[in-house]
Amino acid sequence: MADIIKLLPDHVANQIAAGEVVQRPASVVKELLENAIDAGATIIKLIIKDGGKTLIQVVDDGIGMSETDARLSFERHATSKISSAQDLFNLHTKGFRGEALASIAAIAHVEMQTRPEANEVGTHIKIEGSKIVSQEVVAMPKGTSISVKNLFFNIPARRNFLKSNQVELRHITDEFHRVALVHPNIEFHFYNNGSEIFNLPKAKHRQRIAHIFGSRMDNRLVPVNEETEVVKIAGFICKPEFAKKSRGEQFFFANDRYIKSPYLHHAVVAAFEGLIKSEMYPGYFLYLEVDPSSIDINIHPTKTEVKFDDENTLYAILRSTIKHSLGQFNVAPVLDFDHDPNLDTPYAYKERDAVLPKVTVDAGFNPFRESIERKSSGNTFQKTSTKGWENMYEGLQRDVDVEAFSSVVIESDSEVQGTLYSDDQVEDHLATTFQLRRKYVVSTVKSGMLVIHQHRAHQRILFEKFLGEITVKEGVSQQLLFPLELTFNKQELGILNEIRDSLTNIGFAFESLEQETVKVTGVPLAVPESGIGTVLDRLIADYKEGFTDGPISQAEVLAKVLSKNLAVKTGEVLDQESQLALVNNLFACKEPTLSPFQKITYTIISEGDIDKKFS
Ligand code: ADP
Ligand code: MG
Repeated sequence: MADIIKLLPDHVANQIAAGEVVQRPASVVKELLENAIDAGATIIKLIIKDGGKTLIQVVDDGIGMSETDARLSFERHATSKISSAQDLFNLHTKGFRGEALASIAAIAHVEMQTRPEANEVGTHIKIEGSKIVSQEVVAMPKGTSISVKNLFFNIPARRNFLKSNQVELRHITDEFHRVALVHPNIEFHFYNNGSEIFNLPKAKHRQRIAHIFGSRMDNRLVPVNEETEVVKIAGFICKPEFAKKSRGEQFFFANDRYIKSPYLHHAVVAAFEGLIKSEMYPGYFLYLEVDPSSIDINIHPTKTEVKFDDENTLYAILRSTIKHSLGQFNVAPVLDFDHDPNLDTPYAYKERDAVLPKVTVDAGFNPFRESIERKSSGNTFQKTSTKGWENMYEGLQRDVDVEAFSSVVIESDSEVQGTLYSDDQVEDHLATTFQLRRKYVVSTVKSGMLVIHQHRAHQRILFEKFLGEITVKEGVSQQLLFPLELTFNKQELGILNEIRDSLTNIGFAFESLEQETVKVTGVPLAVPESGIGTVLDRLIADYKEGFTDGPISQAEVLAKVLSKNLAVKTGEVLDQESQLALVNNLFACKEPTLSPFQKITYTIISEGDIDKKFS
């Protein structure tokens, strides 16, 4: 048999390597920024166009490259950073694989201009798909400028896989944050489509955090400092009351590299135990320093996953250090961060007990509070108030409408034909709705027993309501007597601006969305005043975290996010009237069978099924 094994040509090998190194524009940004830092830059400019699809450019004032190095830098395994395997165990630079530039040059149009300080002129190289197409002499300041255009021009499948410019920009911004946070001594400028979106002067760590995430961050931070033989820990944690649902502001750095470590994340969360609710994430910016030989950063090409030699010890030290900081800065005793006015006045509680069956509107109701409190406190305080729940139905039919019951048709269930509730069952029904394990609403229908998943059903109801309001633009707005001032960082503001129109359609009103401080002048009826900040935070977090993927419309995304966050939760007590409203409104929906997240909202256990149990 003839030999069949061939060596891959270099440009093919480079393209394959590129698949590992460059997933999206943000990966290029990361590599270029890291190279600039390794080159000793003191000022770095990042210039982006169209989410990085059209242009990614990084300009630095670092050591630059000679003409030969400039050409060599695009060869695979060309690196100035290590020369022996031993060096791998003692890395102080970010790069070492010598793969990035070669990979990037294989899948984009790259131009490099570079000049070391000692040389009078610089080198200007153009490369397309791994081929040098021109090389000239150029007059330029010292340092290096690399621009990457038309990413994935020769791999259409990859190019098509890219998300919208906004989503790609978000990924880029995340990478930028990670790099800028470890290098406060470097000045950064970030331009997007011609306007400067970050201007970060040389600063201390704490100021850098505030420059990136907004000045409001400054008084949320609690310093963390510990030095042991195994690890040196420095940085900040956010006070527990500022914990968020978003996974946004959690940063670990090991030896000045951003790393992901679910295990160490857990250590931080464990230190916050009892101070924040279980589904909330504490914010942190933690800089770990360990002996470079005790850490393996080489297990993934994009170098964010690491392996520490002694993870267990690290876990224990981290946890106790953070506990200590929380205690030392008097943060720990502040337990009532989620202040519930209902807990203050025993009289009100007693009174409410007496008038329980009556539903009144509690404007200050926060839909997030109830289920959370029950979970985290574990005490048996009976939270009987379901008052506010009803006001989520504002704008929908509120009263029990007997007519509606008899006219509901369930298309998807062949067993139930015609009406869900036959006339003679309506009365029955009124008496027989009940809640099971604070999770299901149970009722009877002609063919058997109806079991509704309260959370999912309410999601469906709210989803259709909001979707309607967003598209028809007729959400009812509740004008705030005193505009509420909320602060957002730049990225959050960007998202708010992106979704502003839809937010306005459902009833939000903002005075301006230019500055960090945003004045909210109106909110949808469904959103309680006390929960506005939380709702917006969650909206931004969810919107950012990928509901934006796929070709679904913005309206749908928003309606989903809102319904997810505002729907009554599992664990909440529903009174009779709310239970009935749930049943009623669910079957008034266009698609009652599924939640907006494609989960089943109800099931019917037929008489036959029940009979079988007794056979
Ligand atoms: P690595 O960073 O892993 O060494 P790269 O492909 O990212 O590999 O870069 C290859 C080489 O090119 C680097 O080792 C460095 O010598 C040189 N280089 C890249 N970018 C710059 C820059 N901005 N300034 C100076 N030298 C650079
Ligand atoms: Mg590099």
